[in-house]
Amino acid sequence: MTDIPLRLFDTYERRVREFTPLDPAEVRLYACGLTVYDYAHIGNLRTYIFEDVLRRVLEYNGYRVLHVQNVTDVGHLVSDADTGEDKMEKGSRRTGKSAWEIAEFYFQAFQADLARLNVLPPHIWPRATDHIAEQIDLIRCIEAKGYTYLARDGVYFDTSRLPDYGYLARLDLEGQQAGARVEVGEKRSPTDFALWKFSAPGEQRQMEWPSPWGAGFPGWHIECSAMAAKYLGPFFDIHCGGEDHIMVHHPNEIAQTQVCYGTRLANFWMHGYFLQVDEAKMSKSAGEFLRLQTLIDRGYDPLAWRFFCLGAHYRAKLNFTWEALEGAATAFNRLRIAAHEWSAAGPGTPDAEFLQRFQADINDDLNMPRVLALAWELARGPLPPADKRATLLEFDRVMGLGLAEWQPSADEVPAEIAALLERRQQARREKRWQDADALRAEVRSAGFEVEDTPQGPVARRAR
Ligand code: AMP
Ligand code: ZN
Repeated sequence: MTDIPLRLFDTYERRVREFTPLDPAEVRLYACGLTVYDYAHIGNLRTYIFEDVLRRVLEYNGYRVLHVQNVTDVGHLVSDADTGEDKMEKGSRRTGKSAWEIAEFYFQAFQADLARLNVLPPHIWPRATDHIAEQIDLIRCIEAKGYTYLARDGVYFDTSRLPDYGYLARLDLEGQQAGARVEVGEKRSPTDFALWKFSAPGEQRQMEWPSPWGAGFPGWHIECSAMAAKYLGPFFDIHCGGEDHIMVHHPNEIAQTQVCYGTRLANFWMHGYFLQVDEAKMSKSAGEFLRLQTLIDRGYDPLAWRFFCLGAHYRAKLNFTWEALEGAATAFNRLRIAAHEWSAAGPGTPDAEFLQRFQADINDDLNMPRVLALAWELARGPLPPADKRATLLEFDRVMGLGLAEWQPSADEVPAEIAALLERRQQARREKRWQDADALRAEVRSAGFEVEDTPQGPVARRAR
């Protein structure tokens, strides 16, 4: 427990403000989940690492947290503007599996990725397809209040009826209407959005349900308003997601909830900024994408990805390069080797001054880059090794790098592994990064980890 106030950036108010829970007994947290039509890419995982840090910081501050994260297994169309195919049905066509099988398969793959990143699982994982009745009820409520209209292809939310629609995004509605050359389809206005979409005439969808308006499926935004209200109530502490949600998804969630319950859903709205590759947005629709397994296949420990993400503030865009990942992996190994070596000194006591500074950093809008800098300062400083370790393990309650458990296995290294290692060093000196990575993968597949120590790279038998 700390006496330093927790301050978080709230996108709704566009400022850092002090966090106090609505109910001191429990902080209620909702995170938008993955659309399970494909593997998560490492950009998605950056957002879930940010949300995990947020949850750990809340817990470090002594709060009990109830964390709900939905599973989008229906209704997310290829374009966020309600046009194009349903991503699930598209995934089904791509793989030849049913939309239901796809959802299950990628949901499990996602859970496995989160576990490998030490991301704590949410307490409740509600699926959109398990909450069709709740979504229909919410649409009926919005309809009864007069905020919907019926179009040929679905039931839409009429954003023109809500004067402060889009406040979260700071949308200039009049400016938008004036310049509207956007494809609106059946909508009256570009900002209107589907609450329920009808199955196309003659089309047999794999996922469809009867409704008061006709057979079809829920729009993408209604699931979050309905499931958040069900598990957390219509006004809870923190709602989070990636920065893309500031413009469309979250304003729509707020609009739905506001009409039916008169609240803006959450007290704090928090957004993680994007991971980019070569300065361009990383997305699945753009074709090839990097997933956690891609990094593992190249010989990286998945936690090196977590370490890489901790090196940037969650409200800064982060650019991915293999070189930068290699740097993070090297630094991470250095840190855990040091932490392991300190364990020889036996049990120690966390240093009060370092802990105080650590708490100040995490409570200053989750400043993890400063926490990493503090960890290096601790490592290089004069404290007794046992106390260094005890202090670092306190930091690790939030960093989540698994430092307490990690152990190198210092078996003898066969000559052929040593030779591979030397060739990798040569490749790195010549900046042939791909070759270096391939050699590292070779070492890895022979059952060894490469650790870059101040004395040069060392291979150790993987556990
Ligand atoms: P989706 O599966 O598209 O619903 O996305 C899952 C989560 O990942 C959402 O919170 C998105 O905002 C987030 N996200 C999508 N692309 C990126 C990216 N390139 N970097 C970071 N987060 C992302
Ligand atoms: Zn959502």
